[in-house]
Amino acid sequence: MDDALEDFRRDTRAWLEENCPPEMRKPMRSEKDICWGGRKFTFASDAQKQWLDVMAERGWTVPDWPSEYGGGGLSPAETKVLKQEMAALGCRVPLQSFGISMLGPALLKYGTEEQKQEHLPKIARGEIRWCQGYSEPNAGSDLASLATSAEDKGDHYLVNGQKVWTSYADEADWIFCLTRTDTSQKQGGITFLLFDMESDGVSTRPIRLISGASPFCETFFEDVKVPKNQVLGEVNDGWSVAKYLLGHEREMISGMGGRAQGLTLSDYALNKLGADEQGRLDDSVLRARIAMHEVRSHAFAAMSERFIDQLKAGKIHSAQPSMMKYYGTELNKDRHELLMAAGGSDALEWESEASGGGKAARAWLRTKANSIEGGTSEIQLNIVAKRILELPEG
Ligand SMILES: Cc1cc2nc3c(=O)[nH]c(=O)nc-3n(C[C@H](O)[C@H](O)[C@H](O)COP(=O)(O)OP(=O)(O)OC[C@H]3O[C@@H](n4cnc5c(N)ncnc54)[C@H](O)[C@@H]3O)c2cc1C
Repeated sequence: MDDALEDFRRDTRAWLEENCPPEMRKPMRSEKDICWGGRKFTFASDAQKQWLDVMAERGWTVPDWPSEYGGGGLSPAETKVLKQEMAALGCRVPLQSFGISMLGPALLKYGTEEQKQEHLPKIARGEIRWCQGYSEPNAGSDLASLATSAEDKGDHYLVNGQKVWTSYADEADWIFCLTRTDTSQKQGGITFLLFDMESDGVSTRPIRLISGASPFCETFFEDVKVPKNQVLGEVNDGWSVAKYLLGHEREMISGMGGRAQGLTLSDYALNKLGADEQGRLDDSVLRARIAMHEVRSHAFAAMSERFIDQLKAGKIHSAQPSMMKYYGTELNKDRHELLMAAGGSDALEWESEASGGGKAARAWLRTKANSIEGGTSEIQLNIVAKRILELPEG
């Protein structure tokens, strides 16, 4: 056993016990309990703000980022210990954002020193919330067909076009956006831009989902001026940055397959449907489906841990994020199917106070999008087929 790591574990546990407010140790009840940060964010409680502040002060909203950019400067092993100790105490994640899970890693790899100094600390402290401008009406799975143009105007680009499915665009402060700077090539003519959503010429229109929520928007750009120092990576090489970021996005989304806090699926089903004389779930078909799910879920948890270790060490196969994204999201969809099956007709309830405003049904419907967002399941399977199985393109 590593003594230094065990000391770190002991100190971390003591610090968390002292600093994590009791309210922040209870499972999140709904989306509203997620702290996204940003200029427009309203904290759900004083405890939520206090928890963000103390964690950000220590750099532990992004524990493995370098401390000069607002991170905790922790090693991969220390980061894992911190996560384990937070999970053991039931501490909520203090800040969740596309800045942390997507843009940050891309800035660390491709950003100029000036860009890193400007953006990373604001992400770490939850001051600026980012959204992702990739998809367009005619560029989803075939993302490189994107047409939003960025015209070179000397000291700046002039951006015109439309994005779609831009999650939380109406609540975000800045956007990372794929634009076309050269129409003579496909992947080779894309430039990755960063700009403020309050720039003149940016507007958003919310889109309503099947679950009743409106977590994303159509986003329009009309003669938006973007200074040239806001290009991330090289001009016309935005595709490299975009792909790197997608790997991190897929890692983040695959986390949905992780085991949920609170009651296990089998305990939930037992509470709802009762036990037979041997104490087993009194529905043999559902029992078998839940057992299979639990086995797959354990296997996925083990695989995820290995995957994160390899990712942090920079030793992953390029198709691994696709593998994890595919499996994690299909697993999450399966979990919600089983929750609905165990909940019976009550679970379909949509509005009553007892159902928390249809929490279960709305969450179930939301999971249908898991295998679309961040690239569909079919696209992930295509990537695995090409890069791992080396099958020819269809
Ligand atoms: C909840 C949610 C949040 C999102 N957030 C964002 C965001 O913040 N920013 C952003 O830029 N985008 C976002 N997206 C968009 C998302 O990335 C796209 O929806 C996704 O890439 C699929 O593109 P599309 O919707 O145009 O579908 P299409 O590409 O039109 O696909 C339609 C169907 O055809 C299948 N298909 C397409 N091509 C192939 C192929 N070559 N082989 C096999 N099957 C194929 C697909 O799998 C799918 O079933 C979000 C989507 C959702 C659902």
